[in-house]
Amino acid sequence: MFEDNKNILVVDADKKSHEVISRVLKEKGYRVDCVESGTEAVKMARKLFFNVALIDMSLTDVDSLELIDQIHIANLDIMPIMTTTNSSVEESVKAMAKGAVSYIQKPLNMDQLLIVIERAFEQQRLSFENKRLLQELWQANRKLEALDERKSAFVATVSHEFKNPLFAVKEFLSFFLEGHLGEITDKQKDVLNRCHRTMERLLRLVMDILDLSKIESGKMELKRTEIQIYDFVNDVLKIQEHLIREKKQKMTINMSKDIGSFWADEDKINQLMANIASNAIKYSPDKAEITVNVIGNDKEIRFEIKDTGEGLTSEECELVFDKFERVTVNKQEGTGLGLPIAKDIVELHKGKIWVESEKGKGSTFIFVLPRDLRD
Ligand code: ADP
Repeated sequence: MFEDNKNILVVDADKKSHEVISRVLKEKGYRVDCVESGTEAVKMARKLFFNVALIDMSLTDVDSLELIDQIHIANLDIMPIMTTTNSSVEESVKAMAKGAVSYIQKPLNMDQLLIVIERAFEQQRLSFENKRLLQELWQANRKLEALDERKSAFVATVSHEFKNPLFAVKEFLSFFLEGHLGEITDKQKDVLNRCHRTMERLLRLVMDILDLSKIESGKMELKRTEIQIYDFVNDVLKIQEHLIREKKQKMTINMSKDIGSFWADEDKINQLMANIASNAIKYSPDKAEITVNVIGNDKEIRFEIKDTGEGLTSEECELVFDKFERVTVNKQEGTGLGLPIAKDIVELHKGKIWVESEKGKGSTFIFVLPRDLRD
């Protein structure tokens, strides 16, 4: 639209001005239409496309500030330039606030007028270019979103198809290992054990991907029940005992016996807590100390899991909740999906989760959940 037009609308009650301005502008290749009143200007702007409107501020039929609004209703892209006889700076500033791109004092200096008009055209060109780029960006974004949705659906379908066969193979391997299918040698046991561990790892990855796609598609539903916190926390952490023993670590739990209960999805909170506790064990060295604090008031329960592992920088503290981010130098087995899932679970429960950490000194993962939020 812009490339094809060089149209200027002159709005001035003084006919002599029309002649002078038209001549100079036409010489420079502009198409010029002149009108004597604001009412005519609005009519013209409705009929034809103008790039620039040169508006005299001393029109008598309409207020020139009001005219800027009316002209913009007719054509949003028009660039108003105000011409003014009395040097009322205040009025000109008001006009700029209304959307005028410039103002120029009468009697007009034609060289100055040409410069101001050129500038208005350049400003309009940039504004059109901006709009075009924004439109392109929006379209590219829509395309990416659609692709991302298809990719997520594909990943979810594939993961789903993988889940049952992987589970079956893992169970067959357990059968072998337990000797149900006949005696096996130590060498065979060693190989089968490695296969079993690999299957477990794959299954964990597949389950994580399925969880994540359920959360992302809004299909993860919470089944809230009343959970007795003291027993629940002890049960979840007991399952981690063999890992603690393997690494000769020490876990201390600080929690009052009468901490009471809270309403939440037991399986999901179990998964969340187990993940954070197992991370604390996994990312801390042998013999490290891990402390679990559980504190509650009427409204919420605060869980803190503090380790003495390698710790995280402040940038890493933000990153760890992003999908597939694995930031620690000392890479352990894992998928990079545990914490994003933990965050989603907490947010589904209308809670908050974050990590406080210092590199080299360990990390404290904290999550706060409402005590009595029922469906
Ligand atoms: P995974 O442990 O499977 O890699 P997570 O999503 O649970 O995935 O954790 C993401 C990353 O955050 C980990 O790879 C690790 O780099 C870092 N991380 C998590 N917990 C801790 C921790 N307690 N101490 C130090 N780094 C941690």
